Amino acid sequence: MDTEPDTIAARVRTVRDEIHRAAIRTGRVPDTIRLVAVSKTVSVERLREAVDAGIRHVGENRLQEALPKIEALGRDGVVWHFIGALQRRKVKSVVGRFDTIHSVDSLALAEEIDRRAQEASLRQRVLLEVNLGGEVSKEGFEPGALVAVLSSLNGLKHLDIRGLTAIPPPSPTAEDARPYFRQLRELAQRLTAQGCGNINMQELSMGMSHDYQVAVEEGATYVRVGTAIFGARCD
Ligand SMILES: *Cc1c(COP(=O)(O)O)cnc(C)c1O
Repeated sequence: MDTEPDTIAARVRTVRDEIHRAAIRTGRVPDTIRLVAVSKTVSVERLREAVDAGIRHVGENRLQEALPKIEALGRDGVVWHFIGALQRRKVKSVVGRFDTIHSVDSLALAEEIDRRAQEASLRQRVLLEVNLGGEVSKEGFEPGALVAVLSSLNGLKHLDIRGLTAIPPPSPTAEDARPYFRQLRELAQRLTAQGCGNINMQELSMGMSHDYQVAVEEGATYVRVGTAIFGARCD
């Protein structure tokens, strides 16, 4: 029987163990997978518990909510990730504040990030979000469209394009997400091969609380986990 108390620290340990096991099962090096704790709606105090339990990567999807948390926890021990839909007027505030933006879903947004990064004299790490399920309502590049804009993206010298992000369509079981995760990995390989050496799609941000083990088995380098660490949200 599991007698460990149900604390944030215990949940972080459980998620880490699961990532480790999924990596070993598929012959991957566990250290190549980074756990991003998704702290939307979570208070600074509870987020601090997670950081004290060893969390180094934190994901937020709203700028307004993230700012006080960045202020409180700083950037020495915490790597901040922007994972939500990004409005163009917010780009200026996001660039340079977040290590990686996981949600670049259009060429126009990429261009705006590039422009703001140039103003700030930095290169912004980004991932391109892909709409794999062909869902009309969802953000993200269609895989075919991504191939078409690759050379334009390649010309944005203040972007450091590291890889791809996807959120598969909702499904009853984690196994249903596997073909989408696989598709994202194959798309990254294809883009790297076509990218004339300048595009390096080594990062795959995929997998959430209900399917991160499958995502790790399929090559995720970032998993974004909220509920399994902090409990259910009221959103
Ligand atoms: C909320 C959120 C997550 C985490 O979802 P959980 O199911 O709580 O793990 C991951 N990625 C994005 C983009 C999110 O908005």
